[in-house]
Amino acid sequence: MHVIAVPVLSDNYVWIAGQTPDADAVIVVDPGAAQPVADYLSTQDLNVAAYFITHHHGDHTGGLAKLVAKWPAPVYAPADETQRIGHVDHPVRHNDRVSITALGAEFEVISVPGHTLGHIAFHGAGVLFSGDALFRGGCGRVFEGTFEQMRAGLARLRALPDSTAVYAGHEYTQKNLEFAARVEPNNADIHALREVVATRRSRGEPTLPGQLAEERQINPFLRWDQPVVAAAAAERDGVDHQDGDAVFASIRRWKDAS
Ligand SMILES: [Zn+2]
Repeated sequence: MHVIAVPVLSDNYVWIAGQTPDADAVIVVDPGAAQPVADYLSTQDLNVAAYFITHHHGDHTGGLAKLVAKWPAPVYAPADETQRIGHVDHPVRHNDRVSITALGAEFEVISVPGHTLGHIAFHGAGVLFSGDALFRGGCGRVFEGTFEQMRAGLARLRALPDSTAVYAGHEYTQKNLEFAARVEPNNADIHALREVVATRRSRGEPTLPGQLAEERQINPFLRWDQPVVAAAAAERDGVDHQDGDAVFASIRRWKDAS
């Protein structure tokens, strides 16, 4: 899968995915704004095969209406959030399969509630569109669901193949890794990645995608069952946490407060 980032708003990415670099049929993921995406589609002379929406927030859906009007295509979006998103003709749920014939690709829908209750991710062809559930080095704020729901959803993403390329909705990597290093000051992988990411950002390049195997080593929100992370949470809270849910909740609250 060949995936291009179109930066929109302050730090969102709209992902444009085609089967090859010169394919003319693409999937548009989370179009938070119309104009930059329209410019890209026009310039590259692309056809939209489908729109994927991960959740209802405006910075992921704001451009959908205008784009669908000019480039009509099926809109796949969380069944529980169709009212708030609009223009959804293919509501999808956990475990649904989405076949995009123009790309010869099939995706599975994975429920990742927490940031929003209906939040979904799309996984297929070696890539994961994770929206605001899983970021590189971090995860989304828990706005609508519970910490337990969020951890359970992230556990589903964590179980995907090592080589999965994770395309998240925001360029938050630097801030996320700064926090990750506070949770795990002795994690050499985090420090090494911070250097790489700083260089990329200094050139104005996206730091995404991440790779799932690496995320499992550096992302504190995928490491609730690592003793070093549990110890950091226990030290901050002055209490030993009973299980992975409690560790995850502690780390998420810590990040919210930082
Ligand atoms: Zn969001």
